[in-house]
Amino acid sequence: MIYNFGAGPAMLPVEVMQRAQQEFLDWHGRGMSLMEMSHRSRDFVAVAEKSEADLRQLLDIPEDYAVLFLQGGATSQFAMTPLNLLRGHECADYLHTGYWSGKAIREARRYCRVNIAASGESDNFMSIPASADWILDPDAAYVYYTANETISGVEFASIPDTGEVPLVADMTSNLLARPLDVSRFGLIFAGAQKNIGPSGLVVAIIHKDLLGHAGEQTPGLYNYQNHADNGSMYNTPATYSWYIAGLVFEWLLEMGGLTIMARRNREKAALLYQLIDTSDFYSNPVHPDCRSDMNITFRLLDETREDAFLKGAEDNGLLALKGHRSVGGMRASIYNAMPVEGVHALVDYMAEFERSQA
Ligand SMILES: *Cc1c(COP(=O)(O)O)cnc(C)c1O
Repeated sequence: MIYNFGAGPAMLPVEVMQRAQQEFLDWHGRGMSLMEMSHRSRDFVAVAEKSEADLRQLLDIPEDYAVLFLQGGATSQFAMTPLNLLRGHECADYLHTGYWSGKAIREARRYCRVNIAASGESDNFMSIPASADWILDPDAAYVYYTANETISGVEFASIPDTGEVPLVADMTSNLLARPLDVSRFGLIFAGAQKNIGPSGLVVAIIHKDLLGHAGEQTPGLYNYQNHADNGSMYNTPATYSWYIAGLVFEWLLEMGGLTIMARRNREKAALLYQLIDTSDFYSNPVHPDCRSDMNITFRLLDETREDAFLKGAEDNGLLALKGHRSVGGMRASIYNAMPVEGVHALVDYMAEFERSQA
């Protein structure tokens, strides 16, 4: 058995891939692949509408939010956010908690003054500053944060309270990991390749009041209003990625929904953190308040054994455990599609490796 712990593109549910494979050449008896069909065909539009309805059901998305299936990955949203949400303001608040928020900040600086309301930099991004210490700008158009920093394994334990100021969240690596109160947000986006489907696709959930504010110079493709007005078909959508995302939503509903997934995800993460915390061979430097359920980073106290650890892991079918090049160490990404058995296999291997090195 192979388990892929890669951060993204990441594992997809086996059931989803089997169904996609079954349907690939002859979709629902039409004699052709869904991939060969016009995005405006009745069949594809039905697939698109069902995927949106299923996502709305999973996250209980209120009617006054638009759900968009866009292209360009999460990175496109780093620019779309200020281009659409500044609404005449000159400044936006950003919480700097690691690599991905850093990249979003650099992009936003092209369009507005960025107020770093809080930064975890002095702690090497291993903790999130307490909200009491945030310095929000009263003129900010929105407050932006990265709900789960995929690379360092740092996750917000709760939704920041920003009062009337729209809250924007990059949830690329933790959307659908648990139930979510969407009404707290102005904009949520998630690149698909972590917890939703194939890469390239990005899902945006935006309060309708925030549509229609992009400036004249905003490229048409980067204006949320155009996508909302056209059912995410302002241009040809990424039909294959959208279809697979729809199958993942169906799978999640069949699994029992996000309350069940949250319990499973908590259980999987706890297995790993418990092993790491009770060992003096492995360590995790992230503050316990903000440890991620999705990306569990860890180090071997003796770094010279990392190569042997990774080699042994691969021999045991445990793949892609090497941490991001910017932080080193190991990282186990355990999104919804990772079965509990995969985490058990990893924990067993880690314990065995530790024993073998004694
Ligand atoms: C992977 C990731 C991104 C970048 O996604 P792309 O699809 O490569 O643009 C952005 N934010 C977070 C939190 C991520 O994990």
